[in-house]
Amino acid sequence: MAKRGLLIILSGPSGVGKGTVRMELMKDESLKLYYSVSMTTRKMRPGEVEGREYYFVSEDEFKKNVEEGNLLEWAKFVGNYYGTPKSIVEKMRDEGKNVLLEIEVSGTLQVLGKLRDDKGLISIFLVPPSIEDLENRIRGRKTETEEMIAERLEKARGELRCGHYYQHEVVNDDLARAVGEIASLIKARMADDDR
Ligand code: 5GP
Repeated sequence: MAKRGLLIILSGPSGVGKGTVRMELMKDESLKLYYSVSMTTRKMRPGEVEGREYYFVSEDEFKKNVEEGNLLEWAKFVGNYYGTPKSIVEKMRDEGKNVLLEIEVSGTLQVLGKLRDDKGLISIFLVPPSIEDLENRIRGRKTETEEMIAERLEKARGELRCGHYYQHEVVNDDLARAVGEIASLIKARMADDDR
């Protein structure tokens, strides 16, 4: 039987580059990654596709999923709800896939609480080299209004104080370097027979 897959949490403040790092990691087939697509009430951004970046749902639909216990974790982030569908995560891990979650801090804390004794859990906090760097990235995305940018930056300042909850902190100073560091962490855990 295949070894049960890992649950990898890739977290960090909005704008730090989690999405780009995730897409690079997904290219490495030896990591056997399965990306868990979240549910959100946020509006679709140009270029986003239903079921690829997110499952875009109404607030009522989201709340129904919360009530029915369908989400592994969920959070309200700058006015919108985001959550991880539970059943697919279990199914993929049972099939030996390493499931990757790209989620914010409060959702991570819920998973860490629920899966405290799960030796297959890896938590990674991706941080920017500086807060100025983060601001430049959020502005560069050109998808948010000034007010939304300010809110996201304020939120990021708080989140940056949460690195100690994670097993690993990785600085996104250089994309290839950061991706390489994370890939090594995953490979080391895949090879660990004690988990
Ligand atoms: P964005 O609106 O930029 O796509 O996402 C905002 C924040 O929500 C990001 O930090 C992103 O990682 C996080 N996020 C995305 N999906 C989930 C989820 O399912 N649960 C939680 N807790 N956060 C999520």
